Amino acid sequence: EGAVRFEDVRFGYDPAREILKGISFDVPPGKSVAIVGPSGAGKSTVSRLLFRFYDIQSGRILIDGQDIAGVQQESVRAAIGIVPQDTVLFNDTITYNIRYGRIGAREAEVRRAAELAQIAGFIQELPDGFDSMVGERGLKLSGGEKQRVAIARTILKAPPILVLDEATSALDTHTEQEIQTALDLVSKERTTLTIAHRLSTIIDADEIIVLKSGEIVERGSHRELLEAD
Ligand code: ADP
Ligand code: ADP
Repeated sequence: EGAVRFEDVRFGYDPAREILKGISFDVPPGKSVAIVGPSGAGKSTVSRLLFRFYDIQSGRILIDGQDIAGVQQESVRAAIGIVPQDTVLFNDTITYNIRYGRIGAREAEVRRAAELAQIAGFIQELPDGFDSMVGERGLKLSGGEKQRVAIARTILKAPPILVLDEATSALDTHTEQEIQTALDLVSKERTTLTIAHRLSTIIDADEIIVLKSGEIVERGSHRELLEAD
């Protein structure tokens, strides 16, 4: 469960300007693939296409062997959890923000997710605890704290597929390492697509794909790519 496959995918926001020029890759169930490459290469476009935000011009995108072009967008989105670069929290309580997408989750499950994301201690020390209001009109959380809330939300949602889109790139080095530890926990044994600028932030992907100007220019293990440099 959770297999992702891109087959010769071609796409341009404007059909006259191709952004992805025929890319193919597989993320087998439970495995992780990382896409690295310079800004503008088309990395975020890959994740937007996986969510079916746009229709592709040719090729196929499959989830569990099924072409997503024929699947309801809500079902596609339900199968995927994303931790973006900058999490924007809703103007609501921390509990609401963690529970989002799984409204029926019990209080104990919310707390457990916060513990796994290593933010439960921080929340408990707030005057209103899990009922503290966050977002633009509430408590201002740091970038790392917001990422942990997003991770807790993803842990609770427990999607078969996880997309990490530059999830640590807005953080300082120390926070980045802490968040990476939490992310490793979430992605363990879950089908994961990681998007990053730099190879150095990818630690343990089963395959790394280097994307440049919408084309895959290299692929291999971490070691193979470092040796090729
Ligand atoms: P990356 O994530 O590798 O930085 P993106 O996938 O965000 O790259 O962008 C790839 C190219 O697509 C860039 O040239 C960018 O300007 C263009 N692009 C991204 N989003 C849009 C959009 N909504 N409309 C038109 N062009 C876009
Ligand atoms: P992200 O998910 O990385 O925040 P954005 O949608 O903000 O992606 O944009 C990614 C890149 O695509 C940026 O470089 C942005 O300037 C470019 N871009 C976004 N929308 C358009 C657009 N309508 N036309 C051209 N480029 C765009």
